[in-house]
Amino acid sequence: SVVVVGSINMDLVARTDRMPAPGETILGTSFSTSPGGKGSNQAVAAAKAGADVVFVGAVGDDTFALELRQALVDAEVDAERLREVPGPSGVAAITVDADGQNAIVVVPGANSRIVDLTDEELTAIADADVLLCQLEIPLDTVTAAARHAAAHDTVVILNPSPAQPLPDDLVDTVDVLVVNETEERQLGENTLARVPHVVTTLGADGARYRGPDGERIRVDAPAVEAIDTTGAGDAFTGALAVAWHRGPQDALAVACAAGALATTRPGAAAASPTRTEIDALVAG
Ligand code: ADP
Repeated sequence: SVVVVGSINMDLVARTDRMPAPGETILGTSFSTSPGGKGSNQAVAAAKAGADVVFVGAVGDDTFALELRQALVDAEVDAERLREVPGPSGVAAITVDADGQNAIVVVPGANSRIVDLTDEELTAIADADVLLCQLEIPLDTVTAAARHAAAHDTVVILNPSPAQPLPDDLVDTVDVLVVNETEERQLGENTLARVPHVVTTLGADGARYRGPDGERIRVDAPAVEAIDTTGAGDAFTGALAVAWHRGPQDALAVACAAGALATTRPGAAAASPTRTEIDALVAG
């Protein structure tokens, strides 16, 4: 099984012809809400890719909380350990203009309130095969989760996004880093060199892998007609966590197929493919 300790947000998306200037009010052309947050998106992607997934995170006590919880349940993610804390759920206020340019304000809300992991949460981490984390919740919580996982032979996969300097006691517990080329540059050689497995996504070019003995693998992404790359990275990472036990070559092939399929559909979590779809594309 996979445990995700991470963020869950409501994405509030307003479409406009152009970006408003400071102090200006303009009319938008459409509005929609959809559950998001890297933690939730990757948990949904992993569940759709065929794993038993437990989500550890927090929503607020507002009207978004119920919808966010339901999105996990609908994707068959175990949401028993989703906390409800006083105050607002995490939100991302997103404005997209006619050129597809976006401007985003993320307010972490409940995501910043996961500070001490409970005994039940720690047990879930110890019992899992894989712990999957991102950096949209407090860094100390990610570090505590990763240290507990490492002490119980749970594989630690970290997608260090948004990129920030990583403390030594986190780096030393990570088995697999999943980064795009920007994050790879931001983390720097010193950090990367200390992690046994580094997976780098390359957009339409697929992904590469560097193993503990300097072993290198390149996997091409299947050619697809991409219409929306939102969520491709989360689909890739969720699927990678599910397939990791099959070894890097197979895991990268599965993850690249999942990422590619996600680009053929609009949206984030909703775009991530099922195990059947992934297997069909990998089989060619
Ligand atoms: P991020 O959005 O996090 O920067 P990438 O753009 O590298 O991540 O995409 C993640 C993965 O999604 C890639 O490794 C690849 O497998 C897949 N992918 C992304 N864009 C395309 C594309 N245009 N065609 C095929 N696969 C793609």
